[in-house]
Amino acid sequence: MSTIQAPKGTYDLLPPDSAVFLAVREAIAAPARRAGYGYVETPGFEHVELFSRGVGESTDIVTKEMYTLTTKGGTQLALRPEGTASVLRAALEGSLHRAGNLPVKLWYSGSYYRYEAPQAGRYRHFSQVGAEALGAEDPMLDAELIILAADAYRALGLRNVRLLLNSLGDRACRPVYRAALQDFLRGLDLDEDTRRRIEINPLRVLDDKRESVQRQLAGAPLITDHLCEACKAYHEQVREQLAAAGVAYEDDPRLVRGLDYYTRTTFEFVHGGLGSQSAVGGGGRYDGLSEMIGGPSLPSVGWALGVDRTVLALRAEGVELPLPAGTDVFAVPLGEEARRTLFAVVTELRRAGVAADFAFGGKGVKNAMKSANRSGARFTLVAGDRDLADAVVQVKDMESGEQTAVPLDGIVAAVKELLA
Ligand code: AMP
Repeated sequence: MSTIQAPKGTYDLLPPDSAVFLAVREAIAAPARRAGYGYVETPGFEHVELFSRGVGESTDIVTKEMYTLTTKGGTQLALRPEGTASVLRAALEGSLHRAGNLPVKLWYSGSYYRYEAPQAGRYRHFSQVGAEALGAEDPMLDAELIILAADAYRALGLRNVRLLLNSLGDRACRPVYRAALQDFLRGLDLDEDTRRRIEINPLRVLDDKRESVQRQLAGAPLITDHLCEACKAYHEQVREQLAAAGVAYEDDPRLVRGLDYYTRTTFEFVHGGLGSQSAVGGGGRYDGLSEMIGGPSLPSVGWALGVDRTVLALRAEGVELPLPAGTDVFAVPLGEEARRTLFAVVTELRRAGVAADFAFGGKGVKNAMKSANRSGARFTLVAGDRDLADAVVQVKDMESGEQTAVPLDGIVAAVKELLA
């Protein structure tokens, strides 16, 4: 072992498990790609104020969990704790939001960083796939995103994912609710920090996981009872579309989520097998975010699904993903001349699109065959001096054990045929 270890709250993705991780990332992104979402990639770090303004000064993410640094030039940067603010910034900066081009639909995938207390399913470095639809206020768009996420989980074979749904209201009705909630919260027995939060962002108090707080929240006013007619109608249409698409959801009038920018539709996907870190993904509408970061009005909606926790959810349900074969063919040369010949065959096979590998390091035949077995290859190519003299290669079917001599000059075509 090296004397230097991975930092606390992080882990390495190593084969063979890393293949599952890649497959999950691919499966989450696939439905969004099919629905017209284009790929976007933004830097791993941004100016701090993108997140302090965008995510919110009162959120844990900004106040406690951001990795910030000051460059030698004095610029304040932060490792990105989430994707939405960056994607919106990039779209604005790249002028993707021209009239006629809306909504701008984007998907992304990458690493995110939060200085959180590490525990099972909660890391300081984690991976998300996200999708955002910018610049349209259309309940069908909210529904589209939710359906795409639900379809991704279904395609992965997950059965125990629940969808929680809420509306947080808009500029008209949210302030009225906010005031009613503040009135209620000020009457509770809460610590100093939480009292401060009541004044800055009272909705976040509903998200407090502590038992002592939750107990007192039993009679708290609910947003559902305060939605204006426009928000009610909008939410009703989202729910209708979900029902029509056969996506089951549970109304959760207390769902607020940890970021400040959400308006109207808010949702979270939770999984029963993950302990306290049960959220596998979430998102919602953020109509005011563009203005908060200095852009024009650009009502938008999106989600981010956690790759790490989706992998854990698959494990919890015992779902085995069908993984693409790593190696189809493995070459085992016996002798120096055969090394040269088979290495050339392997190169030719690869160029013909066949996944092929080779027994490197000049190991003995026993170890080379072990490597062939480990590689999962369906066929092993074996050749020694006598084979070369006959201009053939022995092709061994690893399942049946059967071995046939195949002419060297037709080996690539023959192998492709066998694999087809
Ligand atoms: P959020 O941006 O907090 O809504 O997170 C979206 C999703 O990212 C969550 O549902 C989790 O699946 C995942 N996620 C967020 N924070 C972490 C973390 N610290 N470790 C692992 N996954 C996380």
